[in-house]
Amino acid sequence: MINKKRLIKTFTDLVKIDSESRNEVDVARYIKNKLNKLGIKYKIDKSAVLTKSNHGNIIAKLGSKKNLPTILLSSHMDTVTNGLGIKPVIKRDSITSDGRTILGADDKSGLAIILETLEILKRKKLNHYNVEAAITTCEEIGLLGAKFLDYNLLNSREGIVLDSTSPERLVYKGPSSDYFNIIVQGVEAHSGINPEKGISSITASADIISKMRTGRINSNSTINIGKINGGSAINIVPGRTEINCEIRSHNENTIKIELGKIKKIIENVNKKYKKINKKFNAKIKINRIYDSINIPKNSLIIKNILKTCKQFDYKIDLVETGGGADANFFVKNGVNTVNLGTGMREFHTVKEKLILKEFFQSANIVINSLIVKS
Ligand SMILES: [Zn+2]
Repeated sequence: MINKKRLIKTFTDLVKIDSESRNEVDVARYIKNKLNKLGIKYKIDKSAVLTKSNHGNIIAKLGSKKNLPTILLSSHMDTVTNGLGIKPVIKRDSITSDGRTILGADDKSGLAIILETLEILKRKKLNHYNVEAAITTCEEIGLLGAKFLDYNLLNSREGIVLDSTSPERLVYKGPSSDYFNIIVQGVEAHSGINPEKGISSITASADIISKMRTGRINSNSTINIGKINGGSAINIVPGRTEINCEIRSHNENTIKIELGKIKKIIENVNKKYKKINKKFNAKIKINRIYDSINIPKNSLIIKNILKTCKQFDYKIDLVETGGGADANFFVKNGVNTVNLGTGMREFHTVKEKLILKEFFQSANIVINSLIVKS
């Protein structure tokens, strides 16, 4: 049903348009043109004020049959950096960049599939579910488009995000993630003249870090210390150090327990150093990045995708991911979205490529999962 030539053309058109995060305006124009040509209605939300992008998210709608549910399709318009002046090279089995830049298959392969899907459903007058497309900005800089999307514009309760590697993988489960900062306030002093008056925030930080568990905590949880900042000069006992960390887990309770242990470590370090000087203080600040997802296996969208794959004899596995995607925010806002691969590989590198067989397969899965089967 898909038009492979047109799908490739749309994809290569899209990757040739520069759209690093916060500069999605040109690619948005291309998408809006296409929607206008197809006579598909869309709205632009007001997220740009909050994401600081030069365009908002695009919300397109096709179909308004009252007796049928609405299904969301989503992909993001922005790419990571080294994404300017992309020149796609079409090979027999794949598409790559010319080796100087990323390809931008993350996530323009998803965008191309959505545009192809809308075109087919619209032109062929098939009996399909109502479809909404949420085309987001700023995914690569912290899922900002999805975070600030105007969810009042969406009717969907289920959907597919197209932002993963192989269409043989259907991500239905993902971790929660917390960002946490440990701020250690030591006491500054001259390191040569009166070091005994100071308390080194770096030494105290080392105390904390050496007691923390990091890396893989268990099969579905990780902790990472990503960045440390502290001290001011080599002849000053450092006054302030900040340790930036993250925890991810499929299990909310593990997050609670592990953060509890870290709080206890900080409490003990406080006890130890406050005895020396009351001005010493270490504290933790915790921020939720996103909530976990766990889409029920009997949801309409998973059932439809599995049915389609059976029909076409495609292999597909329900899998868990360790990463975050726009799907995390859709789920948080009441839209149960799975993440289906599009054929992209080695994304965020100059070796990024799009495997054509998988790209077509992904498009075929999406379109056929939106058709009402009697
Ligand atoms: Zn992506």
